[in-house]
Amino acid sequence: MQHFTDAQIAEMQRNTANGGTTLVLSDFDGTQCELDDKNPDNVAIDPRCRQAMRVFSRLPLVKAGFLSGRDIPTLQMLVGVEGLIYVGYHGLGRADKFPARLNDVTFVPEARPFIERNRTLGQQVGQVLFTLGLSESVIIEDKVVSLAINIGGVGTKATQKKVAADIERGLRSFAEQLGYRYTYDLTTIEFRPNVPRNKGTGLIEVVRSVGADFVLFFYDSETDLDGQKALGWLRDQGIGGIGVVAERNNTDRELLAAADLRVPGVPGVRDCLVDLTTKLRRRV
Ligand SMILES: [Mg+2]
Repeated sequence: MQHFTDAQIAEMQRNTANGGTTLVLSDFDGTQCELDDKNPDNVAIDPRCRQAMRVFSRLPLVKAGFLSGRDIPTLQMLVGVEGLIYVGYHGLGRADKFPARLNDVTFVPEARPFIERNRTLGQQVGQVLFTLGLSESVIIEDKVVSLAINIGGVGTKATQKKVAADIERGLRSFAEQLGYRYTYDLTTIEFRPNVPRNKGTGLIEVVRSVGADFVLFFYDSETDLDGQKALGWLRDQGIGGIGVVAERNNTDRELLAAADLRVPGVPGVRDCLVDLTTKLRRRV
């Protein structure tokens, strides 16, 4: 497998030796847990990833956490580690409290009007899915400021494609009028606030808030690309970083090309994290 280069390790360790803060930020689904295409609730974090994140939460000069598309209470329940940074909703909301309830989540100002709009959208989604006869076969995730429809359980890839087209036809323009944008990634259709905020802006905000001097970002899919791009922007500001993609056989080429390091799926991420638990300790 590919691994950190000597130059990357040297840069990380130089930062730690100089008393700089390293941020370890990771996507969740497909990065620290294997995907379940049919049911997003049916996933479990790799136990050794969890253990590594727990170690990071206690290391001086290290800040660690998750940057996920999920809602924060669910994300925290699946991760189960206190003392981490939790950014959810594709970078639109953050909570440091554990466990956090919805009231403990701070949403970026642009996302706040969508808490109310999500109810309107949710009703329409329910009606359209009922009309399409899909109420029983898809899974709706109401993520407070966005709404995801998982169609992984709808049969073959060809059926999914048709279902996705039906859902797009039935809901896209309605959602767009409410200010959402339509996305379709892997087996998930999602209506997300059409605001200039994403995992990239989320990553930059975390870097600023913890005063990180070096960033490690782990991820696996298209919605994470903004985070990888943000690393490039941060590098221009003098903040080093490494973007690590968990590669699968269907990983998007653009993603692979953009990454600083490619590792084989969740096991590859796990090996990197375990390795980092020793590399990020400050030598005395
Ligand atoms: Mg993912």
